[in-house]
Amino acid sequence: MKRNPKWHRDEIILTLHFYFSKDRGSIDARNPKVIELSRMLNRLPIVTDRPDKEKFRNPNGVSMKLSNFLAVDPNHSGKGMTRGSKMDKQVFFEFNDKKELLKTIAAEITRINNDDSIRIEILSIEEDEQTWNDTVAEGSILYKLHKSRERSAKIVQQKKKRALVLFGKLVCEICEFDFYERYGELGIGFIECHHRTPLSSLQASSKTSLKDLALVCANCHRMLHKKIDVLSIEDLKALINR
Ligand SMILES: [Zn+2]
Ligand SMILES: [Zn+2]
Repeated sequence: MKRNPKWHRDEIILTLHFYFSKDRGSIDARNPKVIELSRMLNRLPIVTDRPDKEKFRNPNGVSMKLSNFLAVDPNHSGKGMTRGSKMDKQVFFEFNDKKELLKTIAAEITRINNDDSIRIEILSIEEDEQTWNDTVAEGSILYKLHKSRERSAKIVQQKKKRALVLFGKLVCEICEFDFYERYGELGIGFIECHHRTPLSSLQASSKTSLKDLALVCANCHRMLHKKIDVLSIEDLKALINR
């Protein structure tokens, strides 16, 4: 039997948030709340490849994950299991003193998970190096929500139209690259949109407005996404103007 893929950051975030919640009950595969968490993890629009469906994030596996947190938790005096992955430990200490942020992120992931149309939207966003390597602090689901928001055709069209009316051209707000100037006819109307809202404040339920979007060239957009949790349009602009 092939093994299921390792846990993703989003899954660890949700499980850690559950671990910290005061009324979670005991770490036990028969705890109804653990069973509910297992169901939630099974619904997440993230791991689609599940060689061992029976065992995939089942209540037993979830309890083991919770015991891993117990093992690294400095507030817990007894001994837990110490076979946890590096990522379990890393995520634990990242959020151990940022529980409000953890709550916000977990709540938004849960909201997305409970909304079928957004789940499908998220599943349709292709993987890139960030989701592949699980490097975004807020997790891949919020990162993909970001990507889907900035590709929403209607608002992107409006954003471009307005820039054309105001400036007569479409240029990158960071490096001033102009696709038309560089590529002629081929580059007419081409530019990408970047959503300015930090991932942790991005809400699936909120509508994108024109001021949330910035027009950027493909290169600058890639650079922004490389460090999406810390790098703003202004930061990148300052960096290249150094
Ligand atoms: Zn640029
Ligand atoms: Zn973007």
